[in-house]
Amino acid sequence: MVLLRFAPSPTGALHLGGLRTALFNHLYARKHGGKWLLRIEDTDAARYVPGSVEGIRQALAWAGLDYDYGPVAGGPNHPYFQSERLDLYQTYAKRLLDLGHAYRCFCSPDKLAMTREKLARMGSNATYDKSCSNLTDEEVSRRVKAGDKHIIRMKDDAAPARITPDDMVFGPLKDAHASLPTDPVLLKSDLFPTYHLASVVDDHEMGITHVVRGEEWLPSLPLHLDLYASLGITPPRFAHLPLLLNPDGSKMSKRKGDVDVLEFMRRGWEPGAILNWLALAGWGVKHDHSDGSSSTSKPAPDSTTIMTLQEMIQEFDLSALTHRRTILEPSKLEYLNKNHLMETWSQPDGLNALANRAIGSIKEAFPDSDRTTLDHVKKVILALQSRITNILEIPKLAPYFFVEPDYGSREAELMIKAIPQVEIVKILTNVVPRLELVDSWSEDELTAILYESSRDLGVSQKTFMTVLRHALSGMKTGPGIAEIMDGLGKDWSVARLRSREI
Ligand code: GLU
Repeated sequence: MVLLRFAPSPTGALHLGGLRTALFNHLYARKHGGKWLLRIEDTDAARYVPGSVEGIRQALAWAGLDYDYGPVAGGPNHPYFQSERLDLYQTYAKRLLDLGHAYRCFCSPDKLAMTREKLARMGSNATYDKSCSNLTDEEVSRRVKAGDKHIIRMKDDAAPARITPDDMVFGPLKDAHASLPTDPVLLKSDLFPTYHLASVVDDHEMGITHVVRGEEWLPSLPLHLDLYASLGITPPRFAHLPLLLNPDGSKMSKRKGDVDVLEFMRRGWEPGAILNWLALAGWGVKHDHSDGSSSTSKPAPDSTTIMTLQEMIQEFDLSALTHRRTILEPSKLEYLNKNHLMETWSQPDGLNALANRAIGSIKEAFPDSDRTTLDHVKKVILALQSRITNILEIPKLAPYFFVEPDYGSREAELMIKAIPQVEIVKILTNVVPRLELVDSWSEDELTAILYESSRDLGVSQKTFMTVLRHALSGMKTGPGIAEIMDGLGKDWSVARLRSREI
């Protein structure tokens, strides 16, 4: 069975890149009938941000990405906080020392900085001169006994043989070892592990079969493979996900804002649309494997294919993922969100759920309106249908469903500027009495009446509709006139049309 892990560091809010990693772990695990776990990589106390674990869990829950094991949920390899697994990392570091693949380094941070500078001046790429690797066993024991501060480094030639790393997305990586640090640090002087040691130990101890993580960790892959080899353990398969970019081509980062998943939640986006957006950024490129076989039997989805999480699982194919950096286009999110909204309200309780989410923002925008009931909001959602891009934009999109139109706005004035007042009055005095007689106030009935009235008047359709739209909404665009009237109800519609008759 495949077992994957999502391993964020609690250094702040979960951002879109992190959610994409979690999603791909979920997709891969579910597609292959496996499981995935949440592991909190909290060994860097200096970067710990209180509240981030809760934030990460909340964001995953909101997105509907349900991990099988993790903090709170528990699981066979708990604890799932690295800070609670320190003994394990020390055991592995000790094992590497015993095997002769690692050594204790007593150099002070100042000395290390000086060494690095000296090496750089000499034009060397090395980051350490390995001086402590030559200490005698007696010297090392003496200094350990004396309580001298030290770290544990891995010998960078410790691995029995260097294999060319092969990534499931990036393929074989040539010269991958060239940029590795010299004798990388495994255990720090406070006995906390570095990311490299902790990640390899946990992936092994937890039985992870596939590591799916961000491209920023690709340069560490050869080091991790060396660690597996030095420990004599089998590595999992690795898949690195290409970086996501802003529309201007810059790297997406927490510092640039607009990447916090919970912020997207607060701004009313549909979790399904966010997942769809993230999944399809870079997915859909069919490429051939080195064995000549082809990755997909049917056309891969493109960046605008509407998919539910379930459909994504069905379609998922890691080999159809590009290794090229991909722009995350905000306009695509709008498109996807609109479609996910339509999908939601066609579900049995979907309309109710959406109205419940929308009502808060509507009450806030129109505190004095007596039309902010759930039933009315549902009606409005139906009237607006495919016009809603985001469920929280209803107050801006169609304020006239809750309060009187703003006839003094520039938009409202421009709408009827070219239509003579007599024409307006003529239209309204014709249509209003007809509407007053209507018993069953329904869209179909209203459409028929509007048709008859405009036919009898002989005015242009455009003028006729503009006059009514102006009187009912004060806005240039919106649903059809009959839909607006249906949403407003008889009393309000007639009153508005009457108020513009004079
Ligand atoms: N803890 C790392 C991070 O937050 C993830 C590393 C990994 O997945 O191996 O980015």
